[in-house]
Amino acid sequence: MERFPRVVIDLAALSHNLSVIREIAPDCKVMAVIKANAYGHGLIAAARALAGADALAVARVDEALLLREAGVRNPIVLLEGVFEADEMAVAAEQGLSLVVHNPQQLGWIEQWSGPEKFRCWLKIDTGMHRLGFGVAEHDEAIERISRCRALAGTAGLMTHLASAECADDEVTREQLAIFSRLAEAWPGEVSIANSAAVFLRPDTRCGWVRPGLALYGVSPLPGKTGAELGLKPAMRLESRLISARQLRAGDSVGYNSIWTASEATRVGIVAVGYGDGYLRGFAPDTPVLVGTRRARLVGRVSMDMIAVALDPDSSAEVGDPVLLWGSELPVEELAVHAGTIPYELLCNVSARVHAEYLGVPPRMA
Ligand SMILES: *Cc1c(COP(=O)(O)O)cnc(C)c1O
Repeated sequence: MERFPRVVIDLAALSHNLSVIREIAPDCKVMAVIKANAYGHGLIAAARALAGADALAVARVDEALLLREAGVRNPIVLLEGVFEADEMAVAAEQGLSLVVHNPQQLGWIEQWSGPEKFRCWLKIDTGMHRLGFGVAEHDEAIERISRCRALAGTAGLMTHLASAECADDEVTREQLAIFSRLAEAWPGEVSIANSAAVFLRPDTRCGWVRPGLALYGVSPLPGKTGAELGLKPAMRLESRLISARQLRAGDSVGYNSIWTASEATRVGIVAVGYGDGYLRGFAPDTPVLVGTRRARLVGRVSMDMIAVALDPDSSAEVGDPVLLWGSELPVEELAVHAGTIPYELLCNVSARVHAEYLGVPPRMA
């Protein structure tokens, strides 16, 4: 039995995309970012497909624990470090690398009295002002972490760019100037680049790069698709037509009748809705592929269904395949129709959507 809607995840695409990153940044180590269920692609499956990365990175201890429980032994970095002192013991037991971004976390590592040592990244706020030690605190934080006895080796220095996807950005230039002053005098590892920086900023291809989105084959650069950057999109969101009917001019479809046919229109109903992560905010006329032909969204997105206007001469029938996004209908293009970014569409695919994996590495079969 085939289940719909479903996401089809091409794991070979993930390893292809990792190799593209390696070609662009051949001298760098790669921290593969698989937070938020690997951007909706499945945490464990993505971890296995990206096992060739130098480390995996997640946002929360819970995500790291899921990986360890599944037997993933790769180095794992907690991008936001631990949230409470209690989590230090878990991090120690599981061998997690910590980002240290605030004075509390610095205190916890200074006070650590267990036998375990931690690999740490000191996070420097160079202008994003979200996490990290600010300019006035840099020297003290660097000095404190350098003296810390619970560290395994020298801490790394890390920063995050606020607008890496904007070419020739003033704030980015300032951020990099601040960071390189610190990094020049630093004996340990450094890390700056997210996906966008990997593609746009050769000067950030140093130390460790931290791609997320690009590993899933999606472009971090506005106006470009992953395919245009040599990447392979890994996710397809697919469903089926579950109804098709002929409407007359003046008939409307869906809740609140927000769309009314101006002429005779064949309308298909697709089994996908906001309960699956197909955003209610998609604008009228958002494209949908029915078979190989483009149709357009009409009426409200409901929890389990959407309505699409089919071509007048369409022969589409119940059971026909529908693509919501995937290589033939790039998620980058879809995001624009919902006034969002592809990250949000990918992460939003809900747990009830059946996941099917292609290119499963032998260890998983
Ligand atoms: C999520 C995240 C990344 C990955 O960003 P992409 O834009 O998906 O490449 C890198 N670094 C940090 C600190 C992050 O939180």
